[in-house]
Amino acid sequence: MRIEAVIFDWGGTLTVDEASLADCRERWLPAARHLAPTRVDEGADELFTIERLWWDRGIASGRSFTLRDIVGEAAGAMGIVDQQLIESAEQAHLDAWAEAVIHDPEAAVVLRELDRRGLRIGLLSNTHWPRHFHEDLLARDELTTLIHSRHYTCDLENLKPHGGAFRAALAGVGVSDPAHAVFVGDRPIDDISGAKALGMRTVWRPNPHVPAEPGIDADATIGSLPELLAVLDRWAQE
Ligand SMILES: [Mg+2]
Repeated sequence: MRIEAVIFDWGGTLTVDEASLADCRERWLPAARHLAPTRVDEGADELFTIERLWWDRGIASGRSFTLRDIVGEAAGAMGIVDQQLIESAEQAHLDAWAEAVIHDPEAAVVLRELDRRGLRIGLLSNTHWPRHFHEDLLARDELTTLIHSRHYTCDLENLKPHGGAFRAALAGVGVSDPAHAVFVGDRPIDDISGAKALGMRTVWRPNPHVPAEPGIDADATIGSLPELLAVLDRWAQE
């Protein structure tokens, strides 16, 4: 098999541990302090509930969404129209996440090895956070230049597992035949089923917060990023 590119999911794949739902609710507290200082818990519940709704709608429809969609809807439900307040709440939410995101310490060495092998390296993240937030985190950990093409669904029309998101990522790494690209991700439905549907090879990196899905089987499963190299070696022999 000729492999031209490897495209990675981000959260839970290139980061150490994707957050639990409890973590997600917790990280809305700073935003709620801006929007509703006298009813912070209620505000965090509202933001968290609306975030889950947007994810449910997004997965069902394939349509992406943004942080502004979530905070705007929650602010509206709380009767808040002050745009500066909404923006400061968004920033507080992002700041709460920035300190919690830890890239896998083995990511850089694996990405460098893929680059040394002449492979194109891509990123495709299902995210409502803005592009600059992700790019700042990658730059903070000196990973930006190791990932040649980076796509975030906040900028795209579709979310994974919709084929449109994967096609954008494939175009980004210059691969015209999906059979020559490998996708690595932690979510069976979003990552593995979506990439398989287009004909990509798939590698599943299980995440303790995301259950396996019966009937969705990746072509390979890895317990750590360096294990990906042996998988690619094996496929290159086919
Ligand atoms: Mg993920």
